[in-house]
Amino acid sequence: MDFELGIIGAGTGGYVAAIRAAQNGKKVVLIEKENLGGVCLNRGCIPTKTLLKSSEKWQDLSRAEEFGLSLEHASFDWGKIQERKRNVIAQMQGGIKQLLKANKVTVLYGEASLIDAHRLQIRTSSPAGPEDEAPVSRISAASPATAAEIPAAEASVTTLTCENLILATGSSPARPPIPGSDLPGVITSDELLELDQVPESLVIVGAGVIGLEFACVFAPLGCKITLVEMLPSILPPGDVDLQRRLGLALRKQNITAKTKAAVQSITAQNGQLEVKISAGGKEEILPAAKVLIATGRRPNLNPAELDKLQIAYTKKGILVNEKMQTSAAGVYAIGDVTGLSMLAHSAAHQGLVAVANICGQSEIMDYHAIPSCVFTHPEIASVGLTEQECKERGLNPAISKFNFAANGKAVTMGETEGLVKLLADKETHRLLGCHIIGPHASDLIMEGALAVQQGLTAEALTGTIHPHPTLSEAVSEAALGLFGNMLHQVNLRR
Ligand code: FAD
Repeated sequence: MDFELGIIGAGTGGYVAAIRAAQNGKKVVLIEKENLGGVCLNRGCIPTKTLLKSSEKWQDLSRAEEFGLSLEHASFDWGKIQERKRNVIAQMQGGIKQLLKANKVTVLYGEASLIDAHRLQIRTSSPAGPEDEAPVSRISAASPATAAEIPAAEASVTTLTCENLILATGSSPARPPIPGSDLPGVITSDELLELDQVPESLVIVGAGVIGLEFACVFAPLGCKITLVEMLPSILPPGDVDLQRRLGLALRKQNITAKTKAAVQSITAQNGQLEVKISAGGKEEILPAAKVLIATGRRPNLNPAELDKLQIAYTKKGILVNEKMQTSAAGVYAIGDVTGLSMLAHSAAHQGLVAVANICGQSEIMDYHAIPSCVFTHPEIASVGLTEQECKERGLNPAISKFNFAANGKAVTMGETEGLVKLLADKETHRLLGCHIIGPHASDLIMEGALAVQQGLTAEALTGTIHPHPTLSEAVSEAALGLFGNMLHQVNLRR
């Protein structure tokens, strides 16, 4: 065999799996048809958070006086904001490239297809590949010995043999069959990230994580945003308190959210788009410069190949067991292509689990404490069960909520919107869920994630001294309120 492990797709799942397998002594080939880092680095997590940081800083400037600062002639340059985004991506891509090289992972740029469970065909579209050292047969410097086994540089198709395979081909934006969704200006997150100017107005179809984050990128920069969501609330299926608080916060930022509203069609009128929606039996026309379709993502599957290898799948993704094995021996699948938890950190962890099993250890993927973060303003983060999920399971947990308005650090920051909500089992006192809306929710959630993952009790949290003045005190206060009294707030315990 040419390699002990072949990985298709160098997104978060694929490149992390490649590094870990190489660290475990495996001879690894990683094949990528576009760019290292996949969606997360090139069209997802990192570019959105980079743009969000610029609009957040711009939003902060509007409160300068409140903080005793005076500013004159503040302005923003979207071109420079985009340039910074590209620089951040390039910097991080360089980092991944170095890591792969240092770990002696062979990287090939080209499109891989499965011949059978041990053979791959790799087709390169451009002899140079996306980067200087990329083409299929000019293997990255990591593995000169392997380079000799690969056909000459001009070849556009190569066959490789691998003992094991990991499919990490990711996902792409889904486009629902809305009449007019193919019109120019009706775009997905991929194109929205590349706009060369801030649109005057944007209708966002779908008020899930992606739609909400883009609303918070563009609204502070003067774009009029309308979110259209078919379900009764924004951010489905989230915690009710967080949904309600986020709704209020969005309204303050002039972001309109229309829930229980279905998009009927999109048309182009006099250089503008018009989105026809129906809500509560009434029809409404929403004019927009651009329309973002943010109704979810679909796994990148090749049904003919999967059928040939008898790999089971549904339209939601490739079916895997808890060891990340597909129905074909020696073939694993990880990340968005499995459709199980479409988050970068889930993809990475699934990769680690797959590699452990390939290396002869026995590991399983546990989904019960995966934190999810929404980088809105304010941020949202959740782990474990929501109140609604507890009800559906017949659980009656203790619930405690602590408001950031009563947290000293939040007051100093001028970011008092939001709360920490904890749910715990009334008998064992173990934490079942942690839900946060407020400043740095995405960082604070880790205390909840650790507690839910490790089955820690409320007392384990309150018995751990939290530094002052920090936002983390809001978590310990909420934990105090689960089975006793909070110190800095009258209990909202139920
Ligand atoms: P991908 O990142 O999709 O990578 C798959 C790779 O496989 C791609 O590079 C593709 O080119 C390559 N490939 C596919 N087919 C082939 C082939 N036949 N041959 C060779 N290569 C192939 N997640 C978070 O956790 N936090 C966030 O804040 C966050 N924000 C997001 C924002 C947006 C706008 C979007 C769209 C997504 C966001 N996500 C976020 C989701 C996250 O990006 C994905 O969960 C993550 O990228 C999945 O990683 P993956 O390795 O499974 O696949």
